[in-house]
Amino acid sequence: MTAVSASAAALAGAGDTIVATATPPGRGALSVIRVSGPRAHVIGRLLCARWPGQPRQAALTGVADCRGERLDEAVVVRYDAPASFTGEDSFELSTHGGFVVPTTIVAAIIEAGARLAHAGEFTRRALLNGKLDILQAEATADLVAAGSRAAQRVALHQLDGGLSRRIGALRDRVLEIEALIAYDIDFPEEDDGPVAPARTLGALNALEDSLRNLLATARGGELVREGALVVLAGEPNVGKSSLFNALLGRSRAIVTPIPGTTRDALEAVIDAEPWPIRLVDTAGLRSAMDLVEQMGIEMSESYVRRASVVLCCGEDAESIRSAAAAVRAAGEAETESRALLLVRTKSDLDGPETDMAALLAELGARSAVTVSSETGAGIQDLLKTIGDLLSADVGAPELDAPVLTQTRHQVGIATALEELRQFRQAWQDASLPATIAAVHLHSAAEALRDLIGGVDTEDILDELFRRFCVGK
Ligand code: GDP
Repeated sequence: MTAVSASAAALAGAGDTIVATATPPGRGALSVIRVSGPRAHVIGRLLCARWPGQPRQAALTGVADCRGERLDEAVVVRYDAPASFTGEDSFELSTHGGFVVPTTIVAAIIEAGARLAHAGEFTRRALLNGKLDILQAEATADLVAAGSRAAQRVALHQLDGGLSRRIGALRDRVLEIEALIAYDIDFPEEDDGPVAPARTLGALNALEDSLRNLLATARGGELVREGALVVLAGEPNVGKSSLFNALLGRSRAIVTPIPGTTRDALEAVIDAEPWPIRLVDTAGLRSAMDLVEQMGIEMSESYVRRASVVLCCGEDAESIRSAAAAVRAAGEAETESRALLLVRTKSDLDGPETDMAALLAELGARSAVTVSSETGAGIQDLLKTIGDLLSADVGAPELDAPVLTQTRHQVGIATALEELRQFRQAWQDASLPATIAAVHLHSAAEALRDLIGGVDTEDILDELFRRFCVGK
């Protein structure tokens, strides 16, 4: 353990024994209580009438407080350090659910000498004890927060250590280049060392290509993790809310309502193939009636600017034109590729024929679909068109290969690439000693190492574990 992470351990109160309910509060059949730390087994033996004779063994036991007052009949599983999730002595109790039983048991465990865990403290201890690296701890949070099967698969891959291994291998290649130029450092006067410069250059080119390829997975990784932002835009009454519901209704099972939605925007994650979609129904981009509505419109516009796909909805050519104009007025897209998709709504109603092909050309949109939320006609086609547009822009999602899912990862890889660029410049400059160039190689290796672990700042860990629930 480095001095820095030792102080991190002290900050985190690693000597304490911690307890938390790992399952959400409320009525449920079971509740899982976790206890970890040096006193865990002493506390377990004190409160459980039966204690498993072996680690990783379960026992059905009565649970009582320190005064012998019966609290529950539960299953206890014992884990011995270092073969536990945290790397410490620990145990887990599967108790009856509800509010009272878990609360009284946690209180009894605290009375026996534990303290309540902070958010993410179990995973933090696992990290400090070398059971997980930072990428895997991030994946744990992503898995819990996964809103789609694609996000689940990507998080599982990261949890398995796939991304850690890939980044570790790239770091090894930086170290190999360091070894290749070692002769230049030791014998600066020699023109031709035993390693031909072409070999070093070849290794450098190949490494930069690999880093760029990994960096290119970031956009897809973000789309999988967050869901591709798809925004419904159009005048009032053209059928946006109905389409929102029809898309949710027709999509595959998992629908996650996102908390914090307002009267002006509704959000849901649709587990669509191949990309999960974060669908947003905005209040409508129309002229402000009052201040509250103005705020709603500003939010709609910011959604439209960040969207990967905007559905310009209308029941006829005129209202589709108006939707597209409002989207343009909302401002420049913030994503590199924002697709406009024209959606003619209410196709079950008799209305004037709308020449979608002509509109497509006129409005410079990417695709056009005709739907009826009433009958369901065209809804699957719309979902497929959205998926096709996203794949055209980002490529097919990589679910079974390591991908970058967070800004932190992108920054780390980009920093390594920049350091390699500076290395190349310094190394090819004959007037500079090779030691100067080597400094950049060293920084590139550090940037990659920091992505996996060995992080020198508490900030990254604090930021990471803020996202965790207590008991994880
Ligand atoms: P929004 O203001 O754009 O969100 O529009 P709504 O979804 O609230 O729809 C406005 C009206 O159009 C409602 O009365 C809906 O029932 C109706 N509507 C929406 N979609 C369809 C459709 O596909 N077919 C028919 N016949 N009516 C629809």
